[in-house]
Amino acid sequence: KGSNGNYTVTLIPGDGIGPEISQSIKNIYTAAKVPIQWEEVDVTPVLKGGKTVIPDAAVSSIKKNTVALKGPLATPIGKGHVSLNLTLRRTFNLFANVRPCVSIPGYKTPYDDVNTVLIRENTEGEYSGIEHEVVDGVVQSIKLITWDASERVARYAFNYAQAHGRKRVTAVHKANIMKMSDGMFLSACRQVAKEFPKIAYDEDLLDRACLRITQNPAPYSDRVMVMPNLYGDILSDMCAGLIGGLGLTPSGNIGRDASIFEAVHGSAPDIAGKGLANPTALLLSSMMMLRHMNLNEYADKIEKAALTTIAEGKHVTGDLGGKASTKEYTQAIITKLTA
Ligand code: NAD
Repeated sequence: KGSNGNYTVTLIPGDGIGPEISQSIKNIYTAAKVPIQWEEVDVTPVLKGGKTVIPDAAVSSIKKNTVALKGPLATPIGKGHVSLNLTLRRTFNLFANVRPCVSIPGYKTPYDDVNTVLIRENTEGEYSGIEHEVVDGVVQSIKLITWDASERVARYAFNYAQAHGRKRVTAVHKANIMKMSDGMFLSACRQVAKEFPKIAYDEDLLDRACLRITQNPAPYSDRVMVMPNLYGDILSDMCAGLIGGLGLTPSGNIGRDASIFEAVHGSAPDIAGKGLANPTALLLSSMMMLRHMNLNEYADKIEKAALTTIAEGKHVTGDLGGKASTKEYTQAIITKLTA
């Protein structure tokens, strides 16, 4: 928090539609008088010692502010490029990926009562990147599970449940098959559960959870699901599908050294620069950011204005079946905020 009472937050506008949807967020925040000052940084990779890295200025801005809002980054195709998202995850120890999926009234999908929260371990598991060829024709990929990372993500899940009024934490696993690795993940969850006597704890097999959620998502609205990396990757997209796809899903990467909030979608090169992009996913990600910063009052106000605008359906973007431009949709939200 700066001397003028404002919080400084790093803003990475990103590629493609990134700058357009970021501008929309900035305009909405100004209208809602959110006490945030943006520090805009460019994360276009630079060459350093033969490796592509994030520019130092961007890294130090996020380190200093500890909170960042990030637009989509186009991943360059070709050799020698490390995924920028992976680099950010490693640089800032972003250990938990939080993905809430809530039905949006006015955007019709097969279910209108989805309200899931999924927390994915973000640093190890099947995505440890340890693979090797044992002999010709035989490849081994290591799924690395550590007690520390399991305990850390489990504790975050219980704290999240407590802070957000959710009554239960469900650990999703395949410990029936992966007895040692998922077994240890569960042991860590059980141990942390003892510290939170007011939050119920149970466990569910991944396949069974998929079946149940797609049959009836309603019972999942009172809990937080926590799981190892790969399961979270897949299950969170499945939940996103239930509310109408990635265009509406926010996410937060919570870390030891910083937290980075971002939309789940990419840079949408097909519509970039045309003023057609839907800024809702980034806006909802920024609501998670405001709540993370305990600025709930602003988050509630902006969220209500955005959701009402979508529910009314008069000024929504093309992906939601409307005809409005990014600017018209943004203006409709601002009009509600300042009414
Ligand atoms: P994409 O999400 O960019 O686009 C998929 C489709 O959804 C496109 O038709 C696009 O027009 C539409 N779409 C996406 N977001 C939208 C929005 N806000 N409003 C309206 N329509 C929207 O996925 P892609 O085409 O596979 O990827 C494009 C680039 O983005 C790639 O370089 C990819 O690596 C990158 N990407 C980055 C991230 C990230 O930074 N977190 C995530 C996914 C993809």
